[in-house]
Amino acid sequence: MICPVCKCDMIVVEYHNIELDYCNSCKGVWFDSGELELFLKSQGLEEPKEFFDDIFTSQEAISSEKKRNCPICSRKMKKVAIGGQPENIIDVCSDKHGLWFDGGEVTQLIRHLAGERPPKQDSKEQVISFLGEVFEAPE
Ligand SMILES: [Zn+2]
Ligand SMILES: [Zn+2]
Repeated sequence: MICPVCKCDMIVVEYHNIELDYCNSCKGVWFDSGELELFLKSQGLEEPKEFFDDIFTSQEAISSEKKRNCPICSRKMKKVAIGGQPENIIDVCSDKHGLWFDGGEVTQLIRHLAGERPPKQDSKEQVISFLGEVFEAPE
């Protein structure tokens, strides 16, 4: 898979049987919908449809960040706010191909987690804590 930010090849990172595409140069992470579904199921969510409907049909968040193109269909992705406070803006493909986390976003999520691990109340927070676990020791 090609990184939507720097157009170089991403590497596959596997953690608890979930595969993520990771860009070594910009530290961004692509969470494919198929993998996301596996992850949600592994967390005991029988029906990930609700999560998908929620996140992929969310209103576009107001953000000055540059638009990214989906690494699968190359169409522009939309910005969606995920997580509690502070909010994180991620990119999602309207065709439900997956979620993109900019390198800085993952670092920010991990810092956020370092202070206090949020209660895994909803599936979005589960996704965030999962990423935190995978990338616990950046650099
Ligand atoms: Zn990159
Ligand atoms: Zn797409």
